[in-house]
Amino acid sequence: MCIHSEENSTKDIESTKNLLVKKLSKITLTIDSENIEEDLLQNFSNILSSTIQDFISKKTYIGKTKQEKPVLIFKGKVKTDTPNCPHCGGNVHKDGFYTISILHLPFASMMVKLEIDKERFYCPHCKLLVIQKFSLKTPEHRISLMLEQSIKDMLEKNIFTMKEISLITGVCRNIVKKIDNRRLSEEKNQTLMQAESSPRFISIIEFFLKDVQKYVTTILSLETGHVLWIAYGKKEQVLYDFLDQVGENWLNCIECLVSDTNFEFK
Ligand SMILES: [Zn+2]
Repeated sequence: MCIHSEENSTKDIESTKNLLVKKLSKITLTIDSENIEEDLLQNFSNILSSTIQDFISKKTYIGKTKQEKPVLIFKGKVKTDTPNCPHCGGNVHKDGFYTISILHLPFASMMVKLEIDKERFYCPHCKLLVIQKFSLKTPEHRISLMLEQSIKDMLEKNIFTMKEISLITGVCRNIVKKIDNRRLSEEKNQTLMQAESSPRFISIIEFFLKDVQKYVTTILSLETGHVLWIAYGKKEQVLYDFLDQVGENWLNCIECLVSDTNFEFK
């Protein structure tokens, strides 16, 4: 009797896992910097347009950092209303643009850079240049607010060293340190993880911690930058535990999950 019920529950777990793998394979985008096809880039571009308000994509491609690491680059602009002159309040004319480059949330282990054309306006009355404003970048560094949020969450969790956070995000260690200093001086309740309603786009980062010889997996929301889950273990088990915890509704809400390799549940 006892053996029988154990068999049953093993079967149940198996079928739940099979169902999960089926669902995951439908929504997972696997990123491989060596071999990336045009339609995958298009999918990534769609994710970015869905997660950054008013982002208009122009081009998505794989580039290289100064350290020769592959980086996923999104070129585009952010649609905003034409401002009035801050001095006279009058109408301004378009006067070209300039491009800013900011680091954004990693897509799995791939660093992400946004190259955004900021519009420039000219007031003929005051002879003043006005630059387009949008709240995407931190005032202090050339990184997105969402990336700063994920770094704060990772620091809060106290699993990664600053060097490891720097490796995962591509943000240099000095900046991670500065973000940490700001985080510690902020009101505590501002940095507590927000309870998120089910996210639509998530990124899964599996990272090997050399010091402790363990894998750790982080699940990031690509909509807010919040770390939704972080645990020791490889991504299959961690994702499985995560979904077990948050319930099947979450899985049904996820439109896309970015991962380095396909999921192999054993
Ligand atoms: Zn003016």
